[in-house]
Amino acid sequence: MIFPFTAIVDQEEMKLGLILNVIDPSIGGVLIMGEKGTAKSTAVRALADLLPDIETVKGCRFNCAIEGPFCSDCLEKFQDGGLIEKEKKKMRVVELPLGVTEDRVVGALDIEMAIKKGERHFEPGILADANRNFLYIDEVNLLEDHIVDLLLDSAAMGINTVEREGISFVHPARFILVGTMNPEEGELRPQLLDRFGVCVQVNSLREKDLRVEVLKRRSEFDDDPERFYQKWEIEQQSLAKKIVNAKRNLKNVIISDETLFKVVEITSELDLDGHRADIIMLKAARAYSAYSGKEEITREDIKTVAPFALRHRLKRLPFEDISTETEKLHATLERI
Ligand SMILES: [Zn+2]
Repeated sequence: MIFPFTAIVDQEEMKLGLILNVIDPSIGGVLIMGEKGTAKSTAVRALADLLPDIETVKGCRFNCAIEGPFCSDCLEKFQDGGLIEKEKKKMRVVELPLGVTEDRVVGALDIEMAIKKGERHFEPGILADANRNFLYIDEVNLLEDHIVDLLLDSAAMGINTVEREGISFVHPARFILVGTMNPEEGELRPQLLDRFGVCVQVNSLREKDLRVEVLKRRSEFDDDPERFYQKWEIEQQSLAKKIVNAKRNLKNVIISDETLFKVVEITSELDLDGHRADIIMLKAARAYSAYSGKEEITREDIKTVAPFALRHRLKRLPFEDISTETEKLHATLERI
């Protein structure tokens, strides 16, 4: 039994960061920063219960979408005249543990089988499971460099290719990256940091009432998870429904020129390189607008999500504290 998402006390920023990615996976994932024991992992695992269905090619081990791109298995099947049949699967949260081997991440080709029987046999890895799902890495800043490289490659290409002795296997590997980290335990490589669409912060709850509520819910859950779950079921269902509705309305949300100018005004003020921050901020604002049931992106929507899209992209000059840039961001947000 997983602790219900809606029963997590406070930490609205973290919850919103996750929800926005369910509404629009192209936001590109979320990095959750915070101290130990702040319900980061609980929230990510709890997300699984709220995830919608995806449509996949029936029987495909790699969750290929009906419209492609396809894995080697599907391509072979279609070439042989096989029909594309559909099936629905629930989106999942797939975990990538620290200390994992490369084979476990990318999958492995069985060369012996190929030589003996002339058959291609591919054992799917975590990237296969993660295709079109959430890929979750706890303590992502402690991930080994060679695994980070594999993730960056497949995130950039959207496919995973495994080659051995002239045999190859390809499958789509598009995942929504979710990482949690405690900044006190080390930094994240800049290339990986930029891969996360948004970055949210969690803080230890200082207010006594909130801390009491955490304690109360936790012990209730530990004593009788099933009963606790039933108690929260209506809340869970209503949030899941709100997410499905937001997904449906996402592309109907109006993006005015004024909105575009506001987004660009913020990023220009902070002198950011490239357009990634602008694009993500706009996507996040649109998802938030759809989630709030609005027809058009408002100034408030932009103000709410701007820190998510910008926090990990602010430039820090040598010897300069990040707080200078953060202050500049807040001042800009007040002005727009
Ligand atoms: Zn496939």
